[in-house]
Amino acid sequence: MSDDLLSSKWLKEQHALAGNLPRRVVILNVFSGWLLILQSGLMAWIVNAVVFEAATLGDQMVWILLLPPIFLLRGVVNQQAERLSFRIGSQVRSQLRLELFDHLQQLGPMRLSQSGSAEISHAMIEGIDALHDYYAKYLPHLSVMTLIPISILIVVLPLDWVSALVFLVTAPLIPFFMIVIGKGAERVNQRQWQKLARLGAYFLDVLRGLPTLKTLNLSRQEAKLVARMSDDYRRSTLTVLKVAFLSSLVLEFLSTVSIAMVAVFIGFRLMWGEMFFLQGFFILLLAPEFYLPLRSMGVHYHARLQAVAAAGQLADLMELEPVKNQSTTQELPESPHITVEVSNLSYRYDANALALDGINLSIGFGEKVALVGPSGSGKSTLINLLLGFDRPQSGEILVNGIDLATIDGEDWLRQVAWVPQNPRLIHGSVIDNIALGAEVVDLPRVRQAAHLARADRFIDQLKAGYETQVGEGGQPLSGGEVQRLALARAFYKDAPLIILDEPTASLDAESEAAIQLAIEDLGINRSLLVVAHRLQTVRNASRIYVLKQGRLVEQGSHEQLESQKGIYAEMLQGVVHA
Ligand code: ADP
Repeated sequence: MSDDLLSSKWLKEQHALAGNLPRRVVILNVFSGWLLILQSGLMAWIVNAVVFEAATLGDQMVWILLLPPIFLLRGVVNQQAERLSFRIGSQVRSQLRLELFDHLQQLGPMRLSQSGSAEISHAMIEGIDALHDYYAKYLPHLSVMTLIPISILIVVLPLDWVSALVFLVTAPLIPFFMIVIGKGAERVNQRQWQKLARLGAYFLDVLRGLPTLKTLNLSRQEAKLVARMSDDYRRSTLTVLKVAFLSSLVLEFLSTVSIAMVAVFIGFRLMWGEMFFLQGFFILLLAPEFYLPLRSMGVHYHARLQAVAAAGQLADLMELEPVKNQSTTQELPESPHITVEVSNLSYRYDANALALDGINLSIGFGEKVALVGPSGSGKSTLINLLLGFDRPQSGEILVNGIDLATIDGEDWLRQVAWVPQNPRLIHGSVIDNIALGAEVVDLPRVRQAAHLARADRFIDQLKAGYETQVGEGGQPLSGGEVQRLALARAFYKDAPLIILDEPTASLDAESEAAIQLAIEDLGINRSLLVVAHRLQTVRNASRIYVLKQGRLVEQGSHEQLESQKGIYAEMLQGVVHA
């Protein structure tokens, strides 16, 4: 099946999220169509009686008085249909956002790293918004476009087969031309959508890399590139609009010519006395209403094109397989001791070469295990697997003797404190950041954690102490300070297993020493796995594992490895790196 068909199929499947609302909209729209026929019939009747049958307006008062309630009722019915349609759009959007958000959570950081973050936020915000008009306008209109002309045709056919024939022959031309033009428009739309996604990702990269670009004196050049891309996007937007206007023009032209044809046929037959005025006038009043839903389809078709383009991206995201647990998961029995046993672990990203190849490793209770290796050797991959963010293709990870794949993910993460290399602060106070994830905040423990992480001194010096707002838009903190807050977070969590990725960035001497001491303390009475980048850390480790190109090449204590003159000894020359 082509991508477009798959996207349309996916879009239709999501329609179920609106429940029975679409059916109610169809009923309302058809009812409105019948009211319209009734209204036209009444008007034709009154005009015919007054003009040709010498009746007075007074004679026709009953019929005339019937008109305003019909107008009013149609207004109310149309307004209700609009309101319900809008509700369909917003209901589908919010449900989809929840589903997508849920799905992203299940995918975990490892699988998500394969799609750019700009791409994901683009899909989540603009992508889902682009579906609104499809559900709120295009789909409801699809039923209007078929049911109202059919109702009119049923009324006209017994009255005048010639007009019915003109309706029948010309009506399919409109959707036909719309599809012909639409095919071209679809391609243009998809291209524009991809451009927008690319532009978003590019902006994000430029923003992130702005300091680097500035130091390399490249910011002006980048600005020119951004301007060129924006201009390119503007051009493709205009192309989309051109096609949209062109399709509206063609549809308007076709329907105007068709109405004119009906009018000419009626006119001649009235002149030749082959038709009554009442009949002809009634059909003439209905003719524009017959083509109106077909004509306005051009406008709504644009919504469909946009939605199909956005749906491709959304469906791709939804198709990513979440991390699979075994069919039944268990809770990890509560224990202050955690031991980890990794055996024969192999992992590959999609069709790439093995990122980890037959790894065997163990972390005993109270042990401080260091993981070293050049960049790209698989350290982060191993840590992500230990955190349960994905499952290895072969081998297993045993936690206190239980296969990690059978343990409930959330339960496992409660037992682990993870300190990444570049920790992120959330928008909130220092307390919120240290007690992150805790339901009830224990203030004395927050202070104690800050003290152990050697963060208390700088926190006390902040404007509002522990209440100071940090994170995005808050008080800026240095790299060393953020690291210490992240360590305080780990102390507060007090998990039996700590996984820590040492910062590689050079820190000021005070932070460096404080962080070293804090890491030492964190390892007391806990199992600690540290991706080490510093001599001090590896020296104190109970065991060091050296990774190279996904394989475990050396293991042992600092002294043993130093004397082996292997890759570890080489790394030591550069005072442990990467
Ligand atoms: P390290 O943390 O030691 O620098 P990684 O675990 O990040 O190493 O990477 C190990 C290997 O896996 C590298 O060859 C890297 O290119 C590859 N890799 C890492 N992340 C991804 C990813 N998201 N998709 C594909 N390959 C990846």
